[in-house]
Amino acid sequence: MTEAQVKAASNKVLCTVSHIQPLTPTVQQVILTPKAPVEFKAGQYLQIYLSDTDKRPFSIACAPGFTYQGQPALELQIGGTVTDNYASQALAHLTEHCSNNQEVLVQVGLGEAFWHEESSRPIILLAGGTGFSYVHSIASAIANADVKRPVQLYWGLRHPQAGYAEAELAAWQASHSEYQLNVVVQEPDAQWTGRTGLVHQAVLDDHADLAGFDIYIAGPFAMVGVVRDAFLAQGAQRTQMYADAFAWL
Ligand SMILES: Cc1cc2nc3c(=O)[nH]c(=O)nc-3n(C[C@H](O)[C@H](O)[C@H](O)COP(=O)(O)OP(=O)(O)OC[C@H]3O[C@@H](n4cnc5c(N)ncnc54)[C@H](O)[C@@H]3O)c2cc1C
Repeated sequence: MTEAQVKAASNKVLCTVSHIQPLTPTVQQVILTPKAPVEFKAGQYLQIYLSDTDKRPFSIACAPGFTYQGQPALELQIGGTVTDNYASQALAHLTEHCSNNQEVLVQVGLGEAFWHEESSRPIILLAGGTGFSYVHSIASAIANADVKRPVQLYWGLRHPQAGYAEAELAAWQASHSEYQLNVVVQEPDAQWTGRTGLVHQAVLDDHADLAGFDIYIAGPFAMVGVVRDAFLAQGAQRTQMYADAFAWL
């Protein structure tokens, strides 16, 4: 097998870092253009190789079929502060390779928390902070497939200013009558008039019984652990709850 064939078999591919732009002061949108076709499902993640032994997982933010400047592409949404080495080192790697016009190696199509399009159950999409990247992929796929099942999207933000993608959120909400958007702010300012508190508490307040839902979850590990226990206690079925963080908890 040639090196190219080995990489294809493991879904590893070299990508050009085509574009990096801020979505907020701490979250960057990154567009990667793969040098060969890649396959993934909505809700899967990729790993960026910073070195042979150091690879970091990030949700693929787009749905399959996404293009950038007419080419098949991958979107990432990475939150990085100077105190968060996990993300900021990956962003530094991507930024350097973008500036130098060098390729980065990624492994695509990882994870078991992908969207189950075949299910007929109503859907809860739950994001904490940059867990929105994962939810963005599934919500984009739902929009592309023109699915008319009830969808309830909950996005928990530390501050009102942590949000982005307002136009897409509004379009998804307007797409059908049973699409409900809930942005929940933990530390609101005086201008914030929406929901407040922890995002999973909003779900618990809205649904006395979670048994009938497919529930897709991403966010800080501490949040995902809390959500798993609280939702199971309120009727959610473990087989209908999807989060790659479960594998790390
Ligand atoms: C497979 C995988 C994929 C990943 N993909 C990405 C990615 O695409 N982009 C990225 O930047 N990082 C990614 N990460 C890293 C990780 O998910 C992020 O570090 C995390 O989402 C950061 O959250 P935040 O700081 O934005 O949330 P915060 O701002 O800390 O929290 C946002 C909201 O989450 C809720 N919350 C937070 N903590 C708790 C808690 N303890 N209990 C209850 N609710 C809580 C609250 O509602 C809060 O307002 C990934 C990790 C893995 C393993």
